[in-house]
Amino acid sequence: MINVTKSFMPPYEEYEAYIKKIWESGYLTNQGPCVQELEKKLKNFLNVPYFHYVNNGTIALQLAIHALDIKEGEIITTPFSFAATTTSILWEHCTPVFVDIDPKTLEIDPSKIEDKITDKTKAIMAVHVFGYPCDVKKIKEIADKHNIKVIYDAAHAFGTEYEGKSLLSYGDVSTCSFHATKVYHTIEGGACITNNQDVDKKLDLMKKFGFVGENYQEVGINAKSSEFHAAMGLANYPYIDQVIERRKKISELYDLLLEGQLDRPAEVENLKYNYAYYPVIFRNEEELLSVFDALHKEEIFPRRYFYPTLNELPYLATYEPCPVSEDVSRRIACLPLYPDLEDENVKEICKVIRKTIKR
Ligand SMILES: *Cc1c(COP(=O)(O)O)cnc(C)c1O
Repeated sequence: MINVTKSFMPPYEEYEAYIKKIWESGYLTNQGPCVQELEKKLKNFLNVPYFHYVNNGTIALQLAIHALDIKEGEIITTPFSFAATTTSILWEHCTPVFVDIDPKTLEIDPSKIEDKITDKTKAIMAVHVFGYPCDVKKIKEIADKHNIKVIYDAAHAFGTEYEGKSLLSYGDVSTCSFHATKVYHTIEGGACITNNQDVDKKLDLMKKFGFVGENYQEVGINAKSSEFHAAMGLANYPYIDQVIERRKKISELYDLLLEGQLDRPAEVENLKYNYAYYPVIFRNEEELLSVFDALHKEEIFPRRYFYPTLNELPYLATYEPCPVSEDVSRRIACLPLYPDLEDENVKEICKVIRKTIKR
């Protein structure tokens, strides 16, 4: 069986060596030695000034909202993402305001943001969807002009560099996910990244319940991760480049074998991509479903990322139409992509697709 993704596993002995150290130290959590070492390594890898490793990418989004002092109001966001982008806004008692996506890049369309800004707007929460960059320059311009914050849900963007620096270095806060299905993982895990020292201090306080010693300063939460999760991150760390390189090779093989067959997100200049996903856009939903049927018969399971579009979530107070996102989400899917996937599998997948869509 071939799923859309399969977690990278480091050599068992290498993970075990860290576990042995944990046993010897007796230190299981609370910013222990493995968490500290991981934070240092990832901060250097990304070349960012402030980096906080937390227990997942959803908490990272919630912490970002808190650390920027946003307690209510509207947050402008994209409908084309994973549910956590919207639910983190709702969980923080803010209102998501959806701005449709650009049909070529699939990122939030900056030319439509200003129309949605009101006196209640506190921030823009954009997503670097599939690890491709948002229009970070235009978004910053708009945010500066209206004095609002920018949060990037960069859950897909670990390892992507844009204009010579990590995509996670943009925005007032960027968040990442190190979930088992992501390019780089710590089983469960996430991060908050900022360039601002005050925000860094808030993140540090809030991720550990909001107190230091007997000084209870803020309402905090427990966003700490354990030594075991950090150990997985340390064991996976030496393989980051290798993993991305193999993903690149597979993506290039898909490019070659599917040339001219299906639409793809627009190419971006000055980008060093992390090959997090291989999204393809079909002509319509029927075509997507017929390809899924044909692939399922071969025990191959691509996934509809992202469907449904988030502006159609049933628990939202109001429905805001986002025609581009609604259209794209019905006919986009991600093909299997993970380091263990064999070239033979890719060939088989492409053969089934070509046979089914008959261009
Ligand atoms: C995976 C993901 C998240 C959530 O991350 P978790 O670590 O699973 O909580 C948030 N946003 C996007 C876009 C994601 O893909």
